[in-house]
Amino acid sequence: EQQPPKDENQLAAHVEKLRHQIEEANYQYYIEDNPTLTDAEYDQLMRELQQIEQEHPELVSPESPTQRVGSTPTQEVPQHRHPVPMLSLANARNEKELREWYKRAKNILPDATFSYVCELKIDGLAMALTYEKGKLTIGASRGDGMVGEDWTPNVRTIRTIPQRLRGDRIPDRVEVRGEIYMSIDSFEKLNAEITGGKLFANPRNAAAGSLRQKDPRITASRNLNFFGYQIGYIDGMQVHSQWETLQLLKEWGFPVNPNIQLAHSLDEVLEYCNKWENERFNLPYEIDGVVIKINDLAQQEELGVVARDPRWAIAFKYPPTQVATRLLDIRVNV
Ligand code: NAD
Repeated sequence: EQQPPKDENQLAAHVEKLRHQIEEANYQYYIEDNPTLTDAEYDQLMRELQQIEQEHPELVSPESPTQRVGSTPTQEVPQHRHPVPMLSLANARNEKELREWYKRAKNILPDATFSYVCELKIDGLAMALTYEKGKLTIGASRGDGMVGEDWTPNVRTIRTIPQRLRGDRIPDRVEVRGEIYMSIDSFEKLNAEITGGKLFANPRNAAAGSLRQKDPRITASRNLNFFGYQIGYIDGMQVHSQWETLQLLKEWGFPVNPNIQLAHSLDEVLEYCNKWENERFNLPYEIDGVVIKINDLAQQEELGVVARDPRWAIAFKYPPTQVATRLLDIRVNV
């Protein structure tokens, strides 16, 4: 890792440069659906900035990309203010960083015993789906976490997203969160059909580019899919754990990833992380890691949030693959 400059003015200038590079990458990634950096390059810039800000708190500012989520939504699409902010996730790259995350949680709740829900980290885009009296009324993207883009007509074209919740436990109002994604097959087919014009860099960007279309018929033709994994808020019903949330989402008719696992120790969590580092290549969709969530929602509430990341969850990210870099090279050469 590069050593940041020691001199104060130089350091401030370096921080400005990093912020500018990250903001530009955010714009290309979130608004243009056309990344100019690999995720690994992006994560490296972000970590460097986070580290400097940690060591020099006087340089932290609320506008810094370390304090913000995603990117400001475009003005061209109706906006949706999220009643509960949609956050990001801190990440761990190895066992040591995972254990540090555990220690931070344990410091805050020293008497607690944790269980964990392990989930695959689907590489798509986060959506918040509002259901009123069981009917889908709003489908909005994360945007900057506070305000997202309202893509309801396009979301309605995704066949695996229920228009109406199933079963007889229907709350007055609920917001279901999850990931819209594109399978590797559909992504390859889509790129093969593109003649002239830019190819999509990866399934994540193909999913985002396909959802964010003025004409919902184009979205409908793109074979997008969805996995539900969270409840943003719920009225008139009690849910106590993340595991229960996932069971409820299944009952309502959402696709829930079949590879979820309830773990009772950090060692079990690590086993899950290691298992999927290799097995991810057999999945029909891309993941960029796994997400570990403390199961008990009351514990989640107590742990709370720091800057833009909940303390009760962490993304365990795998090192980048050759394939991801190769795809970027091809796109650049088109
Ligand atoms: P993140 O992607 O690391 O984590 C948060 C996201 O994970 C959620 O918003 C959700 O969309 C997703 N997710 C998938 N499965 C999930 C599950 N089971 N449970 C909960 N969440 C799940 O953080 P971020 O703030 O969304 O984005 C930052 C990341 O995006 C970077 O680390 C980088 O990989 C990528 N990025 C890349 C560029 C670039 O130029 N290449 C630019 C911006 C962002």
